[in-house]
Amino acid sequence: MSVRPIKRISVLGATGSVGLSTLDLVRRNSHKFKVVSLTAYSKVEELSALAIEFNAELAVIGDEKKLDALKERLAGTGIEVAAGEAGLIEAAEREAEIVMAAIVGAAGLRPTMSAVRRGATVALANKECLVCAGDLLMEEVRVHGATLLPVDSEHNAIYQVFEVERASSVERVILTASGGPFRGRSYESLKAVTPAEAIAHPNWDMGAKISVDSATMMNKGLEVIEAYHLFPIKKSQIEVVVHPQSVVHSMVEYSDGSVLAQLGSPDMRTPIAYSLAWPERMEAPVKRLSFTEIGALTFEEVDLEAFRCLALAREAMEAGGAAPAILNAANEVAVAAFLSEKLRFIDIPSVVSDTLAICDIKAPQSLSNVFEIDKIARAAAQNQLALRAI
Ligand code: NAD
Ligand code: MG
Repeated sequence: MSVRPIKRISVLGATGSVGLSTLDLVRRNSHKFKVVSLTAYSKVEELSALAIEFNAELAVIGDEKKLDALKERLAGTGIEVAAGEAGLIEAAEREAEIVMAAIVGAAGLRPTMSAVRRGATVALANKECLVCAGDLLMEEVRVHGATLLPVDSEHNAIYQVFEVERASSVERVILTASGGPFRGRSYESLKAVTPAEAIAHPNWDMGAKISVDSATMMNKGLEVIEAYHLFPIKKSQIEVVVHPQSVVHSMVEYSDGSVLAQLGSPDMRTPIAYSLAWPERMEAPVKRLSFTEIGALTFEEVDLEAFRCLALAREAMEAGGAAPAILNAANEVAVAAFLSEKLRFIDIPSVVSDTLAICDIKAPQSLSNVFEIDKIARAAAQNQLALRAI
């Protein structure tokens, strides 16, 4: 019997929701993995505790001001430390078969690109990367022979049922959306919602930014763009349907009328386990589905008037060029402002749409171009905030 080699794994964004779920699976399967790099933005205590527990080779803190604190905590352990963007890139460049890209936002783009450029298998949770620089990232994946495994539950579902060799027979990709905490609410009733209400997702336990994106349905908009880059399909073939139970994680329809779906409990450890074990499968400690307990699976249309962000994301995808990167940057600024109670929930789409209207959407030619666009769009979005400050 052949013994499987241990997989070397790095986790970028180790202290976040996806990062911790990844490490939960690694902990349960410690004989299968060796942790190489772990990164976080500012949580020194959590990062150093994880680095010690998993005996990581390298621990990186994004916030450079926290480097001394990290050094202090890891003194005498033999674990190397680094900080800032250069440190995050070093973490991604360290030799490891799998890199879990679970930093939130455009901040994850450079490290993810670094892992791709050394031909690694990248488990991609960070959807903002594909939204900002999808064409550039996918081209680098091709050139460097990297493998991109989608961790986002919808895209992981599609990946599992998309028959690449029969791509021309695919008629539709149907992304399911839970509808978030405000499903069924009118635009009018969303005027006074608080950050606490917005991040209380009915089905998924996630980081604050993606939880707000789920509440505005920008998350589904970002996912439509993500799907466009990940799979050989046309923009017009991607549909969204609201499915409040979050059991069917997405579907692919073929020319003979067959619809293939992947189902499971709403627990990120299933798509993460799929990505960590690929091309095999591994045990994940998730609740098994009981169809009799669930009883009914239901589907509804999206209310595009109450949830304008989904329509905005589609428009940005259609416009192409820099529009998706601008959409993403403006959304990151608006969501951060909403979370710190400086912007109303219903003004998130207004900031995004007005920023899109004033920025040049000429397509980025390089990664540094993407960052210039990101910077300009963030500054423009900040100005929009000032006009709408609470
Ligand atoms: P989170 O906020 O819980 O964690 C984010 C991680 O990124 C943390 O470790 C944080 O320290 C790090 N980070 C934040 N800003 C950084 C910066 N500027 N530089 C370096 N590191 C930084 O987020 P999450 O919910 O785990 O989501 C991570 C990514 O995965 C997001 O792109 C999200 O859209 C995607 N995703 C998450 C889920 C989920 O269930 N949580 C599902 C699908 C996709
Ligand atoms: Mg998702």
